Amino acid sequence: MDAVNLLGFDLEGLAAFCEQLGEKRFRATQLFRWIHQKGAADFDQMSDLAKSLRDKLRDKAHIRALPVISEHVSTDGTIKWLFDVGNGDAVEAVYIPETDRGTLCVSSQAGCAVGCRFCSTGHQGFSRNLATWEIIAQLWYAEHSLRKRQGTSERVISNIVMMGMGEPLQNYAALVPALKMMLDDHGYGLSRRRVTVSTSGVVPMIERLREDCPVALAVSLHAPNDPLRDQLVPLNKKYPIAELLDACNRYLDKAPRDFITFEYCMLDGVNDTPELAQQLVKLLKNRVACKLNLIPFNPFPASGLKRSSNERVQAFAEVLIKAGLVTTVRKTRGDDIDAACGQLAGEVQDRTRAHIRMVRAPVVVKGASPS
Ligand code: SAH
Ligand code: SF4
Repeated sequence: MDAVNLLGFDLEGLAAFCEQLGEKRFRATQLFRWIHQKGAADFDQMSDLAKSLRDKLRDKAHIRALPVISEHVSTDGTIKWLFDVGNGDAVEAVYIPETDRGTLCVSSQAGCAVGCRFCSTGHQGFSRNLATWEIIAQLWYAEHSLRKRQGTSERVISNIVMMGMGEPLQNYAALVPALKMMLDDHGYGLSRRRVTVSTSGVVPMIERLREDCPVALAVSLHAPNDPLRDQLVPLNKKYPIAELLDACNRYLDKAPRDFITFEYCMLDGVNDTPELAQQLVKLLKNRVACKLNLIPFNPFPASGLKRSSNERVQAFAEVLIKAGLVTTVRKTRGDDIDAACGQLAGEVQDRTRAHIRMVRAPVVVKGASPS
């Protein structure tokens, strides 16, 4: 058997692997803790494992991080890493420190096949799904390098958001074991409320996540009606808003939080008018328990779109708040290092000709008032 990267095994998978080596399953717990809690990459460090087991492990397995291509530190303390995932693809992860928490934004795919108009990853097209180990390697590296840097053995990352490059629910098989490792008490020990999957609305996979590994859910809505959402988030043609909201409600039965977060990227003259805010109220009020998170659009040249003015965002938020919808405006972090939402671009060997498709199909805004 080829050497396997142990970063790809959740505890269950590692126990099965230990059994294959003729070892007791409980050895897996010790090994798992060495890897994820202590950041060990060298089997010789694992002093409480028998030498015979360490020898077998050295023969059959390794613990391999992703090569770091670059690291950028923003003036606000945000750190962005670019990781090499081979064959010309690279993905990004972003650490966002706040007074009461440390959040890591993690990528799930090299590129993304959904192709949202306002997203630079979407414009890059799609190369491939990341493996579980490549998802976890972002966390493993960030957590343990930050601990070293801060001279602490305490946990630094308290929250994870699957909001980097890619659509996590289109890489479901690799995502779920990675989530389990984030939650595992012998791994990163994060509470379900502090791990968020963000999706553009892959309805069948929302249903499965509810059963397999319910964590906090954020849904990228961006429009209150199907014709507009069809243009901004092409996946809407397959799973329109009504179906998506039904899936959200079913998800809430098992969710660790009693609301869904709806993300709404504010695009000047496209989805930011007071009329659309009213439509959003009509759509969501008494329909889904939710919070709204308005994200000022982070522009990038190829999008041809503009950020809504602060006044426009505030006016939009006020309509929602007056109607009783809990609404926040996301603070932009790390924009001096292109680490803000939707700016993660990495390097993607596009296999989908996304760039050409998007240039040919500009957004048509019907009835939007000029800004
Ligand atoms: N694919 C998932 C998760 C990654 S995107 C999803 O779409 O939900 C994470 C968030 O950033 C989403 O809400 C997305 O809509 C938002 N986003 C994408 N491009 C953006 C941009 N240019 N400016 C601001 N937010 C953006
Ligand atoms: Fe993909 Fe999310 Fe970007 Fe849409 S917003 S293209 S789903 S990464």
